[in-house]
Amino acid sequence: MSNKRFSLALHGGAGAKRGHDYTVEIAHMRGLVETARDRLAGGASALDVAVETVIALEASGLYIAGKGASPNADGEYELDASLMDGPTLRAGSVAALQGFKSPILAARAVMEETPNVMLAGQGAIDFARDRGLERVEDPEAWFTRAGAFEDNHPPDVLPTGTVGCVVRDAEGRLAAATSTAGVFGKRPGRVGDSPIIGAGAWADGYAAVSCTGQGEYFIRTAVAAQIAHRIRFGGESLESAARAAIQGVADLGGHGGLVSVDRDGEIAMPFASSGLKRAALLPDGSIVSAAF
Ligand code: ASP
Repeated sequence: MSNKRFSLALHGGAGAKRGHDYTVEIAHMRGLVETARDRLAGGASALDVAVETVIALEASGLYIAGKGASPNADGEYELDASLMDGPTLRAGSVAALQGFKSPILAARAVMEETPNVMLAGQGAIDFARDRGLERVEDPEAWFTRAGAFEDNHPPDVLPTGTVGCVVRDAEGRLAAATSTAGVFGKRPGRVGDSPIIGAGAWADGYAAVSCTGQGEYFIRTAVAAQIAHRIRFGGESLESAARAAIQGVADLGGHGGLVSVDRDGEIAMPFASSGLKRAALLPDGSIVSAAF
């Protein structure tokens, strides 16, 4: 029987610095959860709410995605994003996208307006331009204004940061969305897990997952899809599946975290890293948030 309760979880990246005050980010994330809750109460779909939430995270300048993005080794901004719709298994993503305000909107357009799942580099840029998506002429100026650099790139923590959202709506539909600038100072052309369906994002009828952390490890262990498959084929609970997947990353020497929701609306947000900026609406209606 369909559970009419809805729930969601979002994250602002695994690169949280111990001792740093994340009051602003926590308040921002809680506000987004409240907005999403109201949208879901009004009947909005999981996909719409996941995308809207990631757009807001990208635009805030508080995280390393969209506004506030970190440059690669050449000082350029190559952004990655992906999303997946659980009921239809439709998915879209962009990799190494340069010059656009909202990579997640470009990913959604790939899903909805092409027969493809993923567009990369110049092809993604041309597509986003043809779609008339809003451009960012000077991401560096945004970045400086946002003041996100020092907060998100503490010297003692590998500089990473991503945003994401997973949603179960009142109809039981699941969706996931993830957006990032990747890791600071990355090799030009380097693509992490965030735009890789099954690694940095996944949604099916069993679970929706959005990941953050050292992307290479998440790709190598197919973290996002692994969680849904553990539930589907192994009969595990979401909590157990999500913990096992993150442990797999840690076992390889990687670090990171994730947010996830299952078909009953249960939430799991495990991490193996210094912290994970996160907030969630639980199935009982309560809102939780934390950075560590
Ligand atoms: N997972 C992202 C990447 O490897 C970075 C992050 O989550 O901080 O590109």
